[in-house]
Amino acid sequence: MQYRTVPKNGENLSALGFGAMRLPTKRLKIDEERATRQLRYAIDNGVNYVDTAVPYHGGESERFLGRALQDGYRERVNLATKLPPFMVKSRVDMDRILDISLKKLQTTHIDYYLLHGLEASGWKKMLDLGVLGFLDSARASGKIRNAGFSFHGDRKTFREIIDAYDWVFCQVQYNFLDEDTQAGTEGLRYAASKGIAVMVMEPLRGGTLAGKLPDGVVRIYRDAPVQRTPAEWALRFVLDHPEVTVVLSGMNDEAHISENIRTCSDALPGSMTAEEHDVISRAAGVYRQMMKVPCTGCAYCMPCPFGVNIPNCFQLYNQYYMVPGRLMTRIWYGVQLMGGMGVPAYAGLCRNCGKCMKACPQHIAVPDELRKVSKKFDGLRTKALMPLVRLVFSDKIKEE
Ligand code: SF4
Ligand code: SF4
Repeated sequence: MQYRTVPKNGENLSALGFGAMRLPTKRLKIDEERATRQLRYAIDNGVNYVDTAVPYHGGESERFLGRALQDGYRERVNLATKLPPFMVKSRVDMDRILDISLKKLQTTHIDYYLLHGLEASGWKKMLDLGVLGFLDSARASGKIRNAGFSFHGDRKTFREIIDAYDWVFCQVQYNFLDEDTQAGTEGLRYAASKGIAVMVMEPLRGGTLAGKLPDGVVRIYRDAPVQRTPAEWALRFVLDHPEVTVVLSGMNDEAHISENIRTCSDALPGSMTAEEHDVISRAAGVYRQMMKVPCTGCAYCMPCPFGVNIPNCFQLYNQYYMVPGRLMTRIWYGVQLMGGMGVPAYAGLCRNCGKCMKACPQHIAVPDELRKVSKKFDGLRTKALMPLVRLVFSDKIKEE
């Protein structure tokens, strides 16, 4: 396994992190025996970073890890979990939720603790509720060792958050289709310039960059100078960036775990050749041709006075047409924009004031495009999924 150093604390973390968001299941529950075997296999083969969160698997992921990391495995890993802003209504809630995580994970401390899925409104809410004081006291008490945040907002907000605290690490969505969305490559570099380690989530965009591929991408990989699986191309792209410390993969298949361990063992920063980069950029080009709105996610149009998260609306709208997994994209729209995990910020909130259009360097007719997004996502088909979204991302997740 390859290890990369966290600049602020000198710790060496495995380039591959085990994400406990998509564990194997049996009859809609975590298949504990198989998931434990997979997790321990990964640790025995060098993985030393395990990432979970309160809502994963309806609140069961943390509890599962508490059991699976018995027999000495807890001491061999850095454990990461998260404080979800959508469950926090007061400063007291922050301590309460952290204590519940410690109990479920059967540990005295969290090695890497994150504020979960920040974007502009969630960040403001947490600041107003005193989250920075909470992080200071949790660190002082030893309940958390390192403070960080995961992020799904716009680039301007990302910079604001980076500058607001002495973070040790951050976690961003990054892959060869997300160079210009959310934090993007610019965010990766900004974090690294401040000595902040970057953990990457969604390197395969929830598995879609490694699942059923568009024909054009199949041909590009087939004719490439070196033969790799789609997952290997995608992971190597992420790990080629020296700013990246850990790439998280939500693994639930034994063959994929072995392959990812192999890939992450020798995918050193800067090791990809110019020809290999060309393969990736041509594959990305095929996906981008399928994009509906040429939004780069720069967020110059933000904030919208009526609360629309414009870049996020366009990102999910493009994703819907670019990669397989449309149901998943619709669910994410419900989670991220229709109030599943924060303040509603969906396309239908647009009141056509025109403010955003003056700011858009791509000259996108934002309200017109938002109407199309709204037509695609704001109707009954997404609303029908909201009870499921609220169940999984409920602020009433069973605590004991
Ligand atoms: S036109 Fe719509 S999206 Fe743009 S700023 Fe006005 S309300 Fe917001
Ligand atoms: S709509 Fe325009 S200004 Fe807004 S994020 Fe997209 S490209 Fe940037």
